[in-house]
Amino acid sequence: MNAQPKIAFDSISSVFELNGAPFTAVDRVSLDIAANEFVTVVGPSGCGKSTMLNLAAGLLTPTYGEVRVDGTRVTGPGPERGVIFQQYALFPWLTVRKNVEFGLELARMPAAERRRRVDEILGLVGLSDFSDALPKNLSGGMKQRCAIARAYAVNPSVLLMDEPFGALDALTRVRMQDQLLATWTEEKRTVLFITHDVDEAVYLANRVVVMAARPGRIHSIIPVDLPYPRTETIRLSDDFAQLRNHVWNSVYHQETKDIA
Ligand code: ADP
Ligand code: MG
Repeated sequence: MNAQPKIAFDSISSVFELNGAPFTAVDRVSLDIAANEFVTVVGPSGCGKSTMLNLAAGLLTPTYGEVRVDGTRVTGPGPERGVIFQQYALFPWLTVRKNVEFGLELARMPAAERRRRVDEILGLVGLSDFSDALPKNLSGGMKQRCAIARAYAVNPSVLLMDEPFGALDALTRVRMQDQLLATWTEEKRTVLFITHDVDEAVYLANRVVVMAARPGRIHSIIPVDLPYPRTETIRLSDDFAQLRNHVWNSVYHQETKDIA
């Protein structure tokens, strides 16, 4: 018997109203994600990626079907699900340390324990030397690492990330991928990571979910049988190139296939 999935999308449809008519953004999507699995979702703009993530976050309610986390239906946001968006959403008036500590204070963690946890997590994301800096003095990559640290600090079992590295330059982006995987290796979480970058989708994931648009649906699911830790050697390997080409073809040639 299979273990219960950590996250289950069970025949999800999300229908919005558009110019007075119903518009199906996501059409009957079913997807099980195992505990500690790293799943990336890639697809053309408008295929429903953010809608999927917001459904899992409990920020949207599906029109049909349900999302379950640990077998319990999602009806709103919850502390076991950390969400990270492209915009860093840091408190500009708080230092890096205080930003990361914020959720721990809300959770009423005692001060000494808080300090220990913040030090630990800032070390994990490589921000130990910047704990007293304000967000405005950080680079984009550092701000996003701070946001990741803040989400990680409160120990959510699920991380939901919507194009978190979308605003970063290519080199910073690659470094962030390595940093995120290092953090994830150290402290495993179930990750649902949305991107429109095919290389990023393959490099990070256990499985890549390719979505198709109009209506948003799952086109294919591609397992990535590359070992962790993922390294530059893997990034430059033939196996990686093959997988990337496969995903690329699924994403970018789906429309011609639909028409043919
Ligand atoms: P993606 O993140 O893949 O670009 P989204 O999930 O943001 O796609 O959107 C999927 C489709 O649903 C798009 O066509 C978008 O315009 C539409 N959509 C998303 N949210 C709403 C909403 N609140 N009202 C109407 N249409 C929406
Ligand atoms: Mg989106």
